[in-house]
Amino acid sequence: MPEVLDPETRKALVERLRYYRDLGIYDFYRRSQPEPDLPVAQFNIAETTEPAPQMSNAKAAAPPPAPADRTSLLRLIREEIGDCTRCRLHKQGRKQIVFGVGNPNADLMFIGEAPGADEDEQGEPFVGRAGQLLNNMIKAMGLRREEVYIANIIKCRPPNNRTPERDECETCSPFLMQQIKVIEPRAIVALGAVAAKTLLAVNAPMSELRGHWYDFRGTKLAVTYHPAFLLRDPRQKKEAWKDLQMVMKELGLQPPEKTTDQP
Ligand code: URA
Repeated sequence: MPEVLDPETRKALVERLRYYRDLGIYDFYRRSQPEPDLPVAQFNIAETTEPAPQMSNAKAAAPPPAPADRTSLLRLIREEIGDCTRCRLHKQGRKQIVFGVGNPNADLMFIGEAPGADEDEQGEPFVGRAGQLLNNMIKAMGLRREEVYIANIIKCRPPNNRTPERDECETCSPFLMQQIKVIEPRAIVALGAVAAKTLLAVNAPMSELRGHWYDFRGTKLAVTYHPAFLLRDPRQKKEAWKDLQMVMKELGLQPPEKTTDQP
């Protein structure tokens, strides 16, 4: 279980969250009364060719949280999740909630599907074989894993690694939305169809979804193949590398000198 905040810090953070919410920054998940319109259904999925806005309007109006605030705000979200029993997955063998990992001030956020066995064991996203490939992809972009933020659409392992059900995604993803709002990355990469379709609320094949920028509530979002898929079909790595290069261009990243090859 995460560390519990002392009442004063908690009160200050709640005030701050309320302030952000007043600015339209947040959608809060209410444990007892879920919002009828889940945030996933509200995303602006318009494709855009324009450069990513540096800040959404709300971000321009309010100063971004100081780094320490982001850490505390993420902790608050984790605290709100608690030992979650909101969907069936809590009684289907999950060992622990896999919240997310990385730099709370990251410019780049990767979003996968759901924890697998290794992630469920270690409590961290993308630590198995797919995670090793994701690490290589991140390295090829000239970044380190610690510099980005990594999370999943859902935070509990589905039994036998089955695809998450729609209602599981809808129940869990509001917490991810809160994480995104706190981190305010400059770009998001959706890894695979479940992440892309949930975030963009569209139903289209990966071949159509990837290769474009989407406007995700003022944040640029790109779609690429899931590393687990790339392990099964390595020929698609060069397509994924094109997607990553598009992201690198947007963020002004150069590949490291030694690894100019695709991952
Ligand atoms: N696959 C995912 O989508 N997420 C993980 O954390 C691990 C594997």
